[in-house]
Amino acid sequence: DRLIDKIAAGEVVERPASVVKELVENALDAGARSIDIAIEAAGVGLIRIADDGHGIAADDLPLAVSRHCTSKLSDAAGLSAILTMGFRGEALPSIGAVGRLAITSRHREADGAWRIAVDGGRTAPPEPAGRGVGTTVEVRDLFHATPARLKFLKAERTETAAISDTVKRLALSAPGVGFTLVMNGRTTEYPPGSTAERARQVLGPEFAEEAIALAAEREGIRITGHLGLPTSGRASSQHAYAFVNGRVVRDRQITQAIRAGYQDVMARDRHPVAVVFIEIDPAAVDVNVHPAKADVRFRDTQAVRGLIVSSIRRHLAEAAP
Ligand code: ADP
Ligand code: MG
Repeated sequence: DRLIDKIAAGEVVERPASVVKELVENALDAGARSIDIAIEAAGVGLIRIADDGHGIAADDLPLAVSRHCTSKLSDAAGLSAILTMGFRGEALPSIGAVGRLAITSRHREADGAWRIAVDGGRTAPPEPAGRGVGTTVEVRDLFHATPARLKFLKAERTETAAISDTVKRLALSAPGVGFTLVMNGRTTEYPPGSTAERARQVLGPEFAEEAIALAAEREGIRITGHLGLPTSGRASSQHAYAFVNGRVVRDRQITQAIRAGYQDVMARDRHPVAVVFIEIDPAAVDVNVHPAKADVRFRDTQAVRGLIVSSIRRHLAEAAP
């Protein structure tokens, strides 16, 4: 049912950066320690993600690219307590519906690797291939199957910036994992390290030197992170790096709470630069709001918001000369 696949794909795969997010999250779910990302032509030409995770068994390759097939959810109750990042089984088939998808994978218990290809929603049978344990996912000619979507992509520079922002956020979410991004002939490396080291790599030495450590806990909600100096420039959401239970989120309420925490010490035209990790009982948060899975719904929004605002305010006040 290829039309339905294309409609579903539109929900998950908005732009090249959304493909990068889905594929890197899969690599993290697979326990990768090292993730290599290669991008050509702003992701429309090529997105290649190679990981050293547990891999996919040959028998499971066709399943991985079928709709609603996921290895990460055993029962419906698991939905509310989900800990892995992917769980819908929609990303790979959606990507296969709008681009040329190839997956080469060697499962950690297998003797060899296998490769499967999907083009315009059609899957070819798996073939033997060569690689070590782990998975390489390659997406070429993204949106060639949906020219309308291709037309609505922004300028190459904008899509490239969105990819680099996505990789930064994912890298901040998993400091113990090494990342390499090769894009437009430029290589960016984030070697594995502590949260603070990763913040320095991603946001720069100036951020790291000025930043105030954030730590607070109340009613089972824990908040940690780094508060940087406010900056001028574009939208505040771009400088608010927020994570819920280790997942990247882009949530207006969280961004606004961070901003409210800075309010007293920040001029009108400035934006907070902050990395904020929120840990909360998985049953008290819904991460299933949208297939792109970037916004969240808390059972008690006020408690989360209140703790973000008050802890940021207090930390900033304490650090003031
Ligand atoms: P989901 O992540 O929601 O389960 P996906 O469509 O993203 O759905 O992936 C489908 C399945 O393919 C996953 O459940 C997983 O079993 C397998 N898979 C995808 N990418 C990888 C990877 N990099 N390493 C190991 N398994 C993978
Ligand atoms: Mg996934």
